[in-house]
Amino acid sequence: MSKPKRKRKNRQSEDIDEIPRLAKTEPLQLRYYGDPVLRKRAEPVQEITEAEVKLADDMLMTLYATGNGIGLAATQVGVLKRFLIVDIGDTEEEKFEPLLLFNPEILSVEGESIAEEGCLSIPDVQADVKRPEKIVVKAMNLKGEEIGIETDGLIARVLQHEIDHLNGTLFIDRISGLKRQLLRSELKIIQQSEHPK
Ligand code: ZN
Repeated sequence: MSKPKRKRKNRQSEDIDEIPRLAKTEPLQLRYYGDPVLRKRAEPVQEITEAEVKLADDMLMTLYATGNGIGLAATQVGVLKRFLIVDIGDTEEEKFEPLLLFNPEILSVEGESIAEEGCLSIPDVQADVKRPEKIVVKAMNLKGEEIGIETDGLIARVLQHEIDHLNGTLFIDRISGLKRQLLRSELKIIQQSEHPK
């Protein structure tokens, strides 16, 4: 997911000094709207091997290289594994530890909220999306341990957006038909344009 208009500063490539092991990674090629891989369902990860650790590092680097990303699903770099990352960045008051989640599963939802979303795979398109406000998620972390997360607000929204990607769903599928009609020409441009490699 890309950053909605807000004050929080998200981490960028320049900040990788904070995470020394990322120094040797290269950003991966992002996949854009119109790429059939974005409509595929990703497969569960059975165990964490070196390949998963490398994917995690490369995806963090890819996210930070975008400059405005706060979440990324493996599907968006063309890897059909159920893996996502979330890094909404720090505020002055609190430090945010990036979430690196394999096989994330929403166990329960509560409430409702509407907020603007954007997607790194659908550049320059924003729309209001209605989603549950609060969620409980279980997942596997990078150490292969099962963890539970109960969250709301922006983190809950980014998690739902990224889990959607793992199921081949895009945020524009969740907006009203009328709004989608209005976006049709912008989507067509993204679909037909050459994207930076
Ligand atoms: Zn997205």
